Amino acid sequence: MTETALPPTAPLRARAEIDLAALRDNVRALRAHAPGAVLMAVVKSDAYGHGAVRCARAAVAAGAGWLGTATPEEALTLRAAGLPGRIMCWLWTPGGPWREAIEADLDVSVSGLWALREVTEAAAAAGVRARVHLKADTGLGRSGCQPDDWPDLVAGALRAEADGLLTVTGLWSHFACADEPGHPSIAAQLTRFREMVAYAERQGARPEVRHIANSPATLTLPEAHFDLVRTGVAVYGISPSPEVGTPADFGLRPVMTLSASLALVKHAPGGHGVSYGHQYVTPGATTLGLVPVGYADGIPRHASGSGPVLVGGKWRTVAGRIAMDQFVVDLGGDEPPAGTEAVLFGPGDRGEPTAEDWAQAAGTIAYEIVTRIGTRVPRVYVNDDAS
Ligand SMILES: *Cc1c(COP(=O)(O)O)cnc(C)c1O
Repeated sequence: MTETALPPTAPLRARAEIDLAALRDNVRALRAHAPGAVLMAVVKSDAYGHGAVRCARAAVAAGAGWLGTATPEEALTLRAAGLPGRIMCWLWTPGGPWREAIEADLDVSVSGLWALREVTEAAAAAGVRARVHLKADTGLGRSGCQPDDWPDLVAGALRAEADGLLTVTGLWSHFACADEPGHPSIAAQLTRFREMVAYAERQGARPEVRHIANSPATLTLPEAHFDLVRTGVAVYGISPSPEVGTPADFGLRPVMTLSASLALVKHAPGGHGVSYGHQYVTPGATTLGLVPVGYADGIPRHASGSGPVLVGGKWRTVAGRIAMDQFVVDLGGDEPPAGTEAVLFGPGDRGEPTAEDWAQAAGTIAYEIVTRIGTRVPRVYVNDDAS
């Protein structure tokens, strides 16, 4: 991740401005949505493209009690950067850095017997109890332990607990369709989760936290909050389900503003093909603006011909194909000078498009739009009271 200390007004080719005040406010808003639960800020994938360490610090400052990542490497990076407190990581593969994780005081997830074996061996070698969350597959059909296999996993974990090798700190699961309120799988998963938790507790598990809620469940399903909620996309001010509500409806504000400086503005005659494949042809004499970001920066090529950009107060549309490093907008005869700011997306209150608009243009979800913004785009942090 490129970080820059330059102010947001510095003439960069492109920049992703990260509003840490908005992030802190989002964390506070989410805590208010789940007052009975502790909040885990999910900062995997470089905080959904926003920068893991800076965002993690801001989230903790706003009251996030836990941090969550997918991979152990991501969690170890946070710890090495000095993030205190509870950090959980869940995406393990055989031979993973169990011992490093235990020694760094991370909480780890176990979905199956191979992982239980590796974590207990690492704990024995380290001479430190591992903190383990047993993950139940309550219906997502992805990670997690199937109900039929749960008794073996629970028994093995409780034996290792009795042997002093680990503590079962969590029982947890993940929703398949929490972003579709009323989907029948939601109630079915909740029922199964309660059953699997109750089974483990009858066998003697005493978890500190039981958790299943992601952002959509945190915002729309209070009965899913349990002891802890794991919010990712909402921390970054993006609505997990635009059909259910806008960010503002949930008291959230988008954190990232992606903009670029026009590299060139020029007159072109009518009938002029634009960009690879000439999929756009100027309908008449016009002006073209060159926006110096492309799919290598994470701008989805699927938004060719449809992605929106605010230039000089007007929405423009990507003209023709998005290339690796640049794309063109038809400025309709306007002549803003080179260097004029082109805003691809932001909170929307300056009239700019949002990440959700780009998601619709590219046929994807806003999660993907912000997460894929590449390392060549410097993140510029603003409103960092903590620094
Ligand atoms: C990514 C992730 C989350 C956060 O999901 P959001 O919808 O972004 O809130 C929570 N839990 C797990 C297991 C995840 O992988």
